[in-house]
Formats: sequence, structure tokens, C-alpha cells
Amino acid sequence: MKEVKAYGAQDKDAPLKEMNINRRDLLDNDVSIDIMYCGVCHSDIHAKLNDWGNAKYPIVPGHEIIGKITAIGSNVSKYQVGDLVGVGCMVDSCQECSACKEDQEMWCENGSTSTYNSKDPHLGGHTLGGYSKVIVVREEFVLKVPTNLETKAVAPLLCAGITTYSPLKHWNVKKGDKVGIVGLGGLGHMGIKFAAAMGAETVMITTSEEKAKDAKRLGANQVIISKDENQMKEHNDSFDFILNTIPVGHDVNPYLALLKRDCTMCLVGAIEPLENVHGANLILRRKKLAGSLIGGIKETQEMLDFCGEHNITSDIEMIDMQDINNAFERVQKNDVKYRFVIDMETL
Ligand code: NAP
Ligand code: ZN
Repeated sequence: MKEVKAYGAQDKDAPLKEMNINRRDLLDNDVSIDIMYCGVCHSDIHAKLNDWGNAKYPIVPGHEIIGKITAIGSNVSKYQVGDLVGVGCMVDSCQECSACKEDQEMWCENGSTSTYNSKDPHLGGHTLGGYSKVIVVREEFVLKVPTNLETKAVAPLLCAGITTYSPLKHWNVKKGDKVGIVGLGGLGHMGIKFAAAMGAETVMITTSEEKAKDAKRLGANQVIISKDENQMKEHNDSFDFILNTIPVGHDVNPYLALLKRDCTMCLVGAIEPLENVHGANLILRRKKLAGSLIGGIKETQEMLDFCGEHNITSDIEMIDMQDINNAFERVQKNDVKYRFVIDMETL
């Protein structure tokens, strides 16, 4: 076991501060990674605040991890010391159930191990995430990072990237489709970039008028201000697919109204009760309301390779580790363009 520096919170109301945590000794299939950068996902904030009722303390968040391998176990075959790699939201799964065999480890029937806040099968207690200097991960959950991209701007791809790429692929977004991305934050800005790169007519649906220019720069063909009922109504029954990243429960009805017959809106943000979903919005035109959770390891690698080919990274604001509490507040106030990334040198 090795003690390393990390940043975490002792309970929901406590600020994050420096602490020491333990990382396991290398098992045969493990790699040890010196963390260079870690993105700040809105999920880190939900988790720290126990919004989903399953928080374990002390919590060390962070699941958008980029770093360099410094040691490998005796059976590691895919990686070498010195490789630039990423780790996302999962660090383990059974590898044997039907979900794992279909490369959908996030739905492992025996429970996948999240990067933080999951039961730790090795050290006991719970897993601790990427707001730390070092992480030890089995090689099956480590991703290769394209070397042609700006390294620090790749970190958010490990969660915001795959969470938006996976549903766009699953619902077969293609050239000619009209695709709506709801919410221009960490996930939403990646959603625009991917939908545009896949050839779709991409429409940003935002509450923030001042983000309209940015949305177009990021690749949106059009912007709809969701608070303007008339603007919304003009687009009723016209979308082939909508990806909704709003981080809280909300009235989904005005967004469902935007879909064409037989088309789908996929939620990725609101992991909580929704206000009254009006059945008519689904029944009358056979519309579908769906959800999606990150993506499997194989697809995460595919997404990173896609980003390498299409030169896609995240728009980031770098912070020092000591600025994290302020960064959490700013994300909650919708004041980030469009992802904070922690420079782990500062810890
Ligand atoms: P974020 O950076 O805070 O972005 C969310 C955006 O949603 C905001 O920028 C804002 O965009 C819009 N928004 C915020 N509050 C709203 C409200 N009350 N009503 C309408 N729109 C609102 O968050 P994120 O990191 O992208 O994460 C988004 C959500 O996805 C979080 O809940 C996170 O936990 C979740 N998540 C889910 C998965 C998954 O696997 N399903 C993975 C990662 C994250 P505008 O200013 O444009 O309106
Ligand atoms: Zn995340």
C-alpha cells in the first residue's frame, strides 16, 4: 500500500481539502498512473453533496483522469511505463456477465466499480477518485490517449465525451438528421461538437441567451432559447433526436413536443424524479423518452480515437487544486466555459 496526496471532503457540508489516501500495491493486471489532469464533472458535485443519496465519506471525486504510467504489473500486456493514458468513470467490473461480454461494463450484472464512491474490492472501504496524485487501475479500464490532441483538454472526454458520444451513436445520428442538444455545459458542449462532426444539423437548446454565439462557434447551426415559448413552438415535431443534459429534474414536456413522430429524447443529466410527464406527448406520435449512462470501455476508446481523427477536445478552464471549492460553486451557478480541469501539479 502507498500513501498519496488527494483532495476530498469529510461530509456533504465540508469544503474539499488536502488529505492522504492509500493506493493498493500493484496486482498482476494493474498499472500505476501519475495523474496530470482531472476534469471537474457536475457529477462530482452531485456526489459530494449526496444529491443521489449514496455518498460515502470521505469522498475524493474525479473521473476524468489523464496521466502517465509509472509502473505495470507482471501480466500487463497493453501498456508500458511512460504511456499517456486516461481513466474514466469505472475502474472494474466482473468481465464475465452478459453486459461485460457485450462491452457494456457500466451495466455489469454484478455491479461495476465506479472510480469513486463504490465498494473497494481490494482495500475495503470505498473507491477514491482522480483528485489525487496517483491511481492504480486494472489495465482493462485504462484508455489510450491520442497524442495529437492537447493533453489537458482531453481529460473531460473521459466522462463528458463518452456520455454524449454513446447515445448519439446508439440512436444512429447521421448526416441530415436534426439533432437538439439541451444545456450548454460540460456535456452539452461535447454533444454539439460530436453531433456536428457526425454530420447532423445541430441545434443548441439553452436557457442562456449569452451562450448563443459560443454555441455556433462550437458547431451548432441554430440556437433555441428554451425560455421563449414561441421559439420552442416554431420547432415542434421537427427533431430526429434530442440529447438532454439538464442536471436536475425538470418539465420534459416542452422538449418532447419538439420531437418528430417515432423519435427519441435521451436524458443523461436528470438522475432524479421528473415532473409530470404528459402521456399525450409520447402516445400521440409514438415518441420515446430514454436514458443513457456513460459508455463501455470499448466505445470510450472508439470515442477517443474519433476525437483524435476529428481533432475534437473540450473547451477548458484550468484551475489549481486549491481552487476546487470555488470551481464547484461556479459550476452550480452555471458559470464555466465549458469544463474546469485541475492541474494536478498544483497538489
Ligand atoms: P454542467 O456543466 O453544469 O451543464 C449543465 C447545463 O444544463 C448548464 O450549463 C445549463 O445550460 C443547463 N442547466 C443547468 N441548470 C438548469 C435548469 N435548472 N434548467 C434548465 N437547464 C439547466 O453539467 P455537466 O457536467 O454537463 O453534467 C450535466 C448532468 O449530467 C449532471 O447532472 C451530471 O451529473 C450528469 N452526468 C450524467 C452522466 C451519465 O452517464 N448519464 C455522466 C456525466 C454527467 P444552459 O445555460 O445552456 O441552459
Ligand atoms: Zn462525469
